[in-house]
Amino acid sequence: MVKKSPKLFVFTGPSGVGKGTLLAEFLKQNPNLEYSVSSTTRKPRQGEINGISYFFISKEKFEEDIKNNKFLEWTKYNENYYGTSVETVNKALNEGHDILLEIEVKGALNVMQKCKNCVSIFILPPSAEELEKRLTGRNTEDKETVVNRLNIAKDEIKQAGKFKYNVVNDKIELAIEKLNEIYNKEKNLEH
Ligand code: 5GP
Repeated sequence: MVKKSPKLFVFTGPSGVGKGTLLAEFLKQNPNLEYSVSSTTRKPRQGEINGISYFFISKEKFEEDIKNNKFLEWTKYNENYYGTSVETVNKALNEGHDILLEIEVKGALNVMQKCKNCVSIFILPPSAEELEKRLTGRNTEDKETVVNRLNIAKDEIKQAGKFKYNVVNDKIELAIEKLNEIYNKEKNLEH
C-alpha cells in the first residue's frame, strides 16, 4: 500500500465552544496524530503545564521570536500573544506525522492561506445561548474577559463557512464520532 502524505489539521472555533475537551478525547483516540503546542504570553491557568498545555513565555521573548520568524502564524487575542511554531509543524510533517493545531479563527484563516492542503475544521456551539452559558459557567476569567470573548465569538462564527468541515459540539460523543470520520476519510485522501 502506498503511504499517504502527512497532513496538517487546523482545528478552530469560538472560545467556550468546548474545543479543549473535544480535542483531548479526540487526540486520546488517535495517538498517531501529533498536537502542536503553541507559545503564549497568557498566565497559566490552574492545572496547565508548561510545555504540554502551552509554552508560557514572556512578551519580550515572544516579540523576539516574531522578529526571528519562528511562527507559522501568531495573533494577539484578548491582550495576549499566541503563536504556532513553524519548526514544530515542519518537523512533524517531514517525519511523516499528521499534526493538529488548535488555534483561534484568525490564526486558522492565516494558516489556510499559507497551507492550501491543510484540513480545516470549525467547531460550532449548538446555539449562541449555549455558548454564553458555557463561557459564563467556566469561572476561569473575570466578567470583562467573558464579555470580550463572547463578542469575539460572535464575529468568529461568521467565518465558519470558509472551513472544509463544520462540526457542532452538542453531544460530545457525537462530535468525536464526526471528527473520527473526518480524520479517517482525510487520512485516506491524497490531498
Ligand atoms: P486560551 O487562552 O483559552 O487557552 O486560548 C485562547 C484562544 O487562543 C483559543 O481560541 C485558542 O484556540 C487560541 N490559540 C491557542 N494557541 C494559539 C496559536 O498558536 N495561535 C493562534 N492564532 N491562536 C491560538
